[in-house]
Amino acid sequence: MSDCLFCKIIQGDIPSKKVFENDKVLAFHDINPLAKIHLLFIHKEHSKNVVEMSQTNPKAISEVFQGISEYCRDNNLAEPGVRVVTNVGRDAGQTVFHTHFHVLSGEQLKGFGA
Ligand code: 5GP
Ligand code: ZN
Repeated sequence: MSDCLFCKIIQGDIPSKKVFENDKVLAFHDINPLAKIHLLFIHKEHSKNVVEMSQTNPKAISEVFQGISEYCRDNNLAEPGVRVVTNVGRDAGQTVFHTHFHVLSGEQLKGFGA
């Protein structure tokens, strides 16, 4: 989508610190990190959130999670731990309406009983 921030990052029109890329998936550092490691994983096909993605391109969900898992394996994040979060809609705090998965790691994460 022409007016979408993350589509512009995919196209290289807006710079980002990329950490992972294949033909379907891109990952880069969040500009405002909430943990020592805070990455955003996105699919290259635009959708506004994972609820829409599950209808328009359900395969994309597993493609993104394959990318996340590959990155976690290669960088030894699964142990001691990693959190994957996706916000859907304004009440959840979604501010960028291109489906993205926050990957938080690198420290003891707060919340969710931790
Ligand atoms: P949301 O609040 O929609 O779940 O997450 C959007 C995330 O995108 C936020 O954590 C925010 O810091 C990040 N973000 C917003 N603009 C940019 C940008 O231009 N570059 C990067 N790398 N991250 C961004
Ligand atoms: Zn987009």
